[in-house]
Amino acid sequence: KDFRNKIKPNWCPGCGDFSVQASIQRAAANIGLEPDELAIISGIGCSGRISGYINAYGFHGIHGRALPLGQGVKMANQDLTVIVSGGDGDGFAIGMGHTIHAIRRNMNITYIVMDNQIYGLTKGQTSPRSDAGFVTKSTPDGSVEEAMNIMEIALSAGVTFLAQSFSSDLKELTSIIEQGVQHDGFSFINVFSPCVTYNKVNTYEWFKKHLVSVNAIDGYDRTNRQQAMETIMKHNGLVKGILYEDQGSKSYQSKLPHVKEEPLVKQSVHLDEETFQQLASEFM
Ligand code: SF4
Repeated sequence: KDFRNKIKPNWCPGCGDFSVQASIQRAAANIGLEPDELAIISGIGCSGRISGYINAYGFHGIHGRALPLGQGVKMANQDLTVIVSGGDGDGFAIGMGHTIHAIRRNMNITYIVMDNQIYGLTKGQTSPRSDAGFVTKSTPDGSVEEAMNIMEIALSAGVTFLAQSFSSDLKELTSIIEQGVQHDGFSFINVFSPCVTYNKVNTYEWFKKHLVSVNAIDGYDRTNRQQAMETIMKHNGLVKGILYEDQGSKSYQSKLPHVKEEPLVKQSVHLDEETFQQLASEFM
Protein backbone atom coordinates (compact mmCIF):
# COMPACT_ATOMS: atom_id res chain seq x y z
CA LYS A 1 0.00 0.00 0.00
CA ASP A 2 1.57 3.19 -1.12
CA PHE A 3 -0.05 6.44 -0.07
CA ARG A 4 2.56 8.53 -1.90
CA ASN A 5 1.70 10.16 -5.20
CA LYS A 6 3.85 11.92 -7.78
CA ILE A 7 2.99 15.46 -6.69
CA LYS A 8 5.87 17.32 -5.06
CA PRO A 9 4.65 19.45 -2.13
CA ASN A 10 5.39 23.15 -2.54
CA TRP A 11 5.72 23.80 1.19
CA CYS A 12 8.85 25.70 2.24
CA PRO A 13 11.82 23.46 3.08
CA GLY A 14 11.59 22.62 6.79
CA CYS A 15 7.84 23.30 7.09
CA GLY A 16 6.28 21.10 9.78
CA ASP A 17 3.50 20.03 7.42
CA PHE A 18 5.82 17.54 5.67
CA SER A 19 5.89 15.39 8.81
CA VAL A 20 2.13 15.50 9.18
CA GLN A 21 1.76 14.27 5.61
CA ALA A 22 4.26 11.45 6.22
CA SER A 23 2.55 10.50 9.50
CA ILE A 24 -0.86 10.21 7.85
CA GLN A 25 0.63 8.07 5.08
CA ARG A 26 2.39 5.78 7.54
CA ALA A 27 -0.62 5.52 9.85
CA ALA A 28 -2.90 4.59 6.95
CA ALA A 29 -0.45 1.90 5.81
CA ASN A 30 0.00 0.54 9.35
CA ILE A 31 -3.76 0.26 9.83
CA GLY A 32 -3.93 -1.70 6.58
CA LEU A 33 -6.07 0.71 4.61
CA GLU A 34 -6.10 0.75 0.82
CA PRO A 35 -5.86 4.15 -0.91
CA ASP A 36 -9.49 3.86 -2.06
CA GLU A 37 -10.60 3.41 1.55
CA LEU A 38 -9.24 6.77 2.70
CA ALA A 39 -10.52 10.31 2.04
CA ILE A 40 -8.54 13.42 2.97
CA ILE A 41 -10.64 16.57 3.14
CA SER A 42 -8.84 19.87 3.67
CA GLY A 43 -9.53 23.56 4.12
CA ILE A 44 -7.61 26.62 2.92
CA GLY A 45 -4.09 27.53 3.97
CA CYS A 46 -0.64 26.06 3.35
CA SER A 47 -1.78 22.95 5.23
CA GLY A 48 -4.88 22.67 3.03
CA ARG A 49 -2.71 21.47 0.16
CA ILE A 50 -2.25 18.15 1.94
CA SER A 51 -5.30 16.59 0.29
CA GLY A 52 -3.45 16.74 -3.04
CA TYR A 53 -0.26 15.17 -1.72
CA ILE A 54 -1.60 11.82 -0.52
CA ASN A 55 -2.59 8.93 -2.74
CA ALA A 56 -6.20 8.64 -1.57
CA TYR A 57 -9.49 10.38 -2.31
CA GLY A 58 -8.91 14.08 -1.77
CA PHE A 59 -11.09 17.16 -1.62
CA HIS A 60 -9.58 20.63 -1.17
CA GLY A 61 -12.52 22.58 0.18
CA ILE A 62 -13.17 26.20 1.06
CA HIS A 63 -11.94 28.28 3.95
CA GLY A 64 -13.19 27.03 7.29
CA ARG A 65 -15.54 24.47 5.76
CA ALA A 66 -13.46 21.31 5.71
CA LEU A 67 -15.35 19.79 8.64
CA PRO A 68 -18.84 20.09 7.12
CA LEU A 69 -17.47 18.57 3.91
CA GLY A 70 -15.75 15.74 5.76
CA GLN A 71 -18.86 14.99 7.80
CA GLY A 72 -20.91 14.92 4.59
CA VAL A 73 -18.49 12.42 3.03
CA LYS A 74 -18.67 10.23 6.12
CA MET A 75 -22.48 10.41 6.26
CA ALA A 76 -22.72 9.35 2.63
CA ASN A 77 -20.22 6.54 2.93
CA GLN A 78 -19.18 5.45 6.39
CA ASP A 79 -17.06 2.69 4.88
CA LEU A 80 -14.47 5.37 4.07
CA THR A 81 -11.92 6.44 6.65
CA VAL A 82 -12.23 10.22 6.67
CA ILE A 83 -9.39 12.49 7.80
CA VAL A 84 -10.13 16.20 7.80
CA SER A 85 -7.16 18.53 7.99
CA GLY A 86 -6.32 22.19 7.95
CA GLY A 87 -4.58 24.96 9.82
CA ASP A 88 -5.29 26.88 13.02
CA GLY A 89 -6.62 29.90 11.10
CA ASP A 90 -8.91 27.70 9.03
CA GLY A 91 -10.24 25.65 11.93
CA PHE A 92 -10.18 28.05 14.88
CA ALA A 93 -11.12 31.39 13.25
CA ILE A 94 -13.52 31.22 10.30
CA GLY A 95 -14.24 27.54 10.93
CA MET A 96 -14.56 27.62 14.73
CA GLY A 97 -18.34 27.21 14.77
CA HIS A 98 -18.01 24.04 12.73
CA THR A 99 -15.21 22.76 14.95
CA ILE A 100 -17.31 23.03 18.13
CA HIS A 101 -20.33 21.33 16.56
CA ALA A 102 -18.27 18.60 14.91
CA ILE A 103 -16.76 17.81 18.32
CA ARG A 104 -20.22 17.73 19.92
CA ARG A 105 -21.69 15.60 17.10
CA ASN A 106 -19.01 12.93 17.52
CA MET A 107 -18.99 11.62 13.96
CA ASN A 108 -16.51 8.89 13.31
CA ILE A 109 -13.85 11.06 11.65
CA THR A 110 -10.37 12.33 12.52
CA TYR A 111 -9.55 16.04 12.53
CA ILE A 112 -5.84 16.90 12.27
CA VAL A 113 -4.92 20.55 12.65
CA MET A 114 -1.48 21.78 11.59
CA ASP A 115 -1.15 24.50 14.21
CA ASN A 116 1.66 26.96 13.42
CA GLN A 117 0.17 29.92 15.32
CA ILE A 118 0.21 32.17 12.25
CA TYR A 119 -1.39 32.59 8.81
CA GLY A 120 1.36 31.27 6.52
CA LEU A 121 -0.32 31.23 3.09
CA THR A 122 -1.12 34.95 3.26
CA LYS A 123 2.45 35.68 4.34
CA GLY A 124 2.34 35.96 8.09
CA GLN A 125 -0.54 37.48 10.06
CA THR A 126 -1.60 36.87 13.65
CA SER A 127 -3.95 33.88 14.08
CA PRO A 128 -6.28 32.89 16.94
CA ARG A 129 -3.45 30.72 18.24
CA SER A 130 -0.79 33.46 18.28
CA ASP A 131 0.42 34.43 21.73
CA ALA A 132 -0.13 37.88 23.24
CA GLY A 133 2.70 40.19 22.21
CA PHE A 134 3.27 38.32 18.93
CA VAL A 135 4.57 40.74 16.29
CA THR A 136 3.39 40.28 12.69
CA LYS A 137 2.35 42.51 9.79
CA SER A 138 -1.18 42.60 11.21
CA THR A 139 0.00 43.34 14.78
CA PRO A 140 3.20 45.42 14.36
CA ASP A 141 3.12 46.51 18.02
CA GLY A 142 2.44 42.98 19.24
CA SER A 143 -0.91 41.20 19.57
CA VAL A 144 -2.98 42.46 22.49
CA GLU A 145 -5.19 39.35 22.42
CA GLU A 146 -4.50 36.16 24.34
CA ALA A 147 -4.09 32.94 22.34
CA MET A 148 -7.07 30.62 22.20
CA ASN A 149 -6.50 27.52 24.34
CA ILE A 150 -7.97 25.02 21.91
CA MET A 151 -7.31 22.01 24.14
CA GLU A 152 -9.49 23.47 26.92
CA ILE A 153 -12.20 24.39 24.43
CA ALA A 154 -12.25 20.94 22.82
CA LEU A 155 -12.49 19.20 26.16
CA SER A 156 -15.25 21.54 27.33
CA ALA A 157 -17.17 20.88 24.10
CA GLY A 158 -17.22 17.15 24.88
CA VAL A 159 -14.48 15.76 22.65
CA THR A 160 -14.17 11.96 22.97
CA PHE A 161 -10.55 11.67 21.74
CA LEU A 162 -8.12 14.53 22.32
CA ALA A 163 -4.45 14.52 21.43
CA GLN A 164 -1.69 16.97 20.71
CA SER A 165 1.61 16.28 19.04
CA PHE A 166 4.60 17.90 17.39
CA SER A 167 5.90 17.62 13.84
CA SER A 168 9.32 16.49 15.01
CA ASP A 169 7.86 13.43 16.74
CA LEU A 170 7.02 11.45 13.63
CA LYS A 171 6.77 8.12 15.43
CA GLU A 172 4.49 9.43 18.18
CA LEU A 173 2.34 11.37 15.73
CA THR A 174 1.91 8.30 13.51
CA SER A 175 0.82 6.21 16.49
CA ILE A 176 -1.61 8.92 17.68
CA ILE A 177 -3.17 9.14 14.21
CA GLU A 178 -3.58 5.36 14.10
CA GLN A 179 -5.35 5.38 17.47
CA GLY A 180 -7.44 8.40 16.52
CA VAL A 181 -8.63 6.78 13.31
CA GLN A 182 -9.59 3.61 15.19
CA HIS A 183 -11.53 5.53 17.86
CA ASP A 184 -15.32 5.26 17.51
CA GLY A 185 -16.13 8.94 17.35
CA PHE A 186 -14.56 12.31 16.62
CA SER A 187 -10.82 12.27 17.21
CA PHE A 188 -9.17 15.66 17.42
CA ILE A 189 -5.40 15.84 16.96
CA ASN A 190 -3.74 19.25 17.19
CA VAL A 191 -0.20 19.19 15.81
CA PHE A 192 2.36 21.91 16.48
CA SER A 193 3.69 22.25 12.93
CA PRO A 194 6.20 25.12 12.78
CA CYS A 195 6.02 27.71 10.02
CA VAL A 196 9.73 28.21 9.45
CA THR A 197 9.23 31.17 7.14
CA TYR A 198 6.97 33.52 9.10
CA ASN A 199 6.93 32.38 12.74
CA LYS A 200 10.36 33.00 14.21
CA VAL A 201 9.14 32.62 17.80
CA ASN A 202 7.41 29.23 17.96
CA THR A 203 10.22 27.28 16.33
CA TYR A 204 11.23 23.60 16.57
CA GLU A 205 13.65 24.53 19.35
CA TRP A 206 10.96 26.50 21.19
CA PHE A 207 8.57 23.52 21.21
CA LYS A 208 11.30 21.09 22.24
CA LYS A 209 11.97 23.32 25.25
CA HIS A 210 8.37 24.00 26.26
CA LEU A 211 6.26 20.91 25.48
CA VAL A 212 5.49 18.50 28.32
CA SER A 213 4.60 14.93 27.39
CA VAL A 214 1.75 13.29 29.33
CA ASN A 215 3.77 10.07 29.08
CA ALA A 216 6.29 11.68 31.43
CA ILE A 217 3.63 12.53 34.04
CA ASP A 218 3.44 9.89 36.77
CA GLY A 219 0.07 8.18 36.94
CA TYR A 220 -1.43 10.09 34.03
CA ASP A 221 -4.73 8.43 33.13
CA ARG A 222 -6.00 9.38 29.70
CA THR A 223 -9.53 8.23 30.54
CA ASN A 224 -9.74 10.84 33.31
CA ARG A 225 -11.31 13.97 31.86
CA GLN A 226 -10.74 16.08 34.95
CA GLN A 227 -7.05 15.19 35.05
CA ALA A 228 -6.79 16.07 31.37
CA MET A 229 -8.29 19.52 31.98
CA GLU A 230 -6.11 20.17 35.02
CA THR A 231 -2.98 19.13 33.10
CA ILE A 232 -3.84 21.33 30.12
CA MET A 233 -4.47 24.31 32.41
CA LYS A 234 -1.34 23.74 34.45
CA HIS A 235 0.87 23.77 31.35
CA ASN A 236 -1.13 26.41 29.47
CA GLY A 237 -1.93 23.95 26.66
CA LEU A 238 1.72 23.08 25.98
CA VAL A 239 1.23 19.35 26.47
CA LYS A 240 1.58 16.48 24.06
CA GLY A 241 0.39 12.91 23.78
CA ILE A 242 -3.11 11.43 24.03
CA LEU A 243 -4.69 13.68 26.62
CA TYR A 244 -8.15 12.16 26.81
CA GLU A 245 -10.05 9.22 25.44
CA ASP A 246 -13.62 8.22 26.21
CA GLN A 247 -13.29 4.49 25.72
CA GLY A 248 -17.07 4.03 25.77
CA SER A 249 -17.59 6.55 22.97
CA LYS A 250 -20.36 5.76 20.47
CA SER A 251 -20.12 7.62 17.21
CA TYR A 252 -22.98 9.54 15.57
CA GLN A 253 -23.14 6.92 12.81
CA SER A 254 -23.41 4.03 15.23
CA LYS A 255 -26.60 5.54 16.68
CA LEU A 256 -28.43 5.68 13.34
CA PRO A 257 -29.84 2.24 12.41
CA HIS A 258 -30.43 3.01 8.71
CA VAL A 259 -26.87 4.31 8.32
CA LYS A 260 -25.30 1.60 10.44
CA GLU A 261 -26.65 -1.21 8.26
CA GLU A 262 -25.33 0.04 4.94
CA PRO A 263 -23.67 3.23 3.64
CA LEU A 264 -26.21 5.68 2.24
CA VAL A 265 -24.42 5.66 -1.13
CA LYS A 266 -25.26 1.96 -1.47
CA GLN A 267 -28.90 2.30 -0.48
CA SER A 268 -31.63 2.52 -3.08
CA VAL A 269 -33.39 5.84 -3.53
CA HIS A 270 -36.22 4.14 -5.41
CA LEU A 271 -39.64 4.47 -3.78
CA ASP A 272 -42.38 1.98 -4.68
CA GLU A 273 -45.71 3.48 -5.66
CA GLU A 274 -47.42 2.74 -2.34
CA THR A 275 -44.66 4.39 -0.25
CA PHE A 276 -44.55 7.34 -2.63
CA GLN A 277 -48.32 7.90 -2.32
CA GLN A 278 -48.14 7.59 1.44
CA LEU A 279 -45.32 10.15 1.73
CA ALA A 280 -47.03 12.45 -0.77
CA SER A 281 -50.27 12.40 1.24
CA GLU A 282 -48.36 13.38 4.40
CA PHE A 283 -46.95 16.47 2.71
CA MET A 284 -50.07 17.62 0.83
FE1 SF4 B 1 4.95 26.04 5.82
FE2 SF4 B 1 5.02 28.58 6.63
FE3 SF4 B 1 6.04 27.93 4.28
FE4 SF4 B 1 3.41 27.88 4.66
S1 SF4 B 1 4.71 29.69 4.71
S2 SF4 B 1 4.63 26.29 3.60
S3 SF4 B 1 3.25 27.18 6.78
S4 SF4 B 1 6.76 27.24 6.28
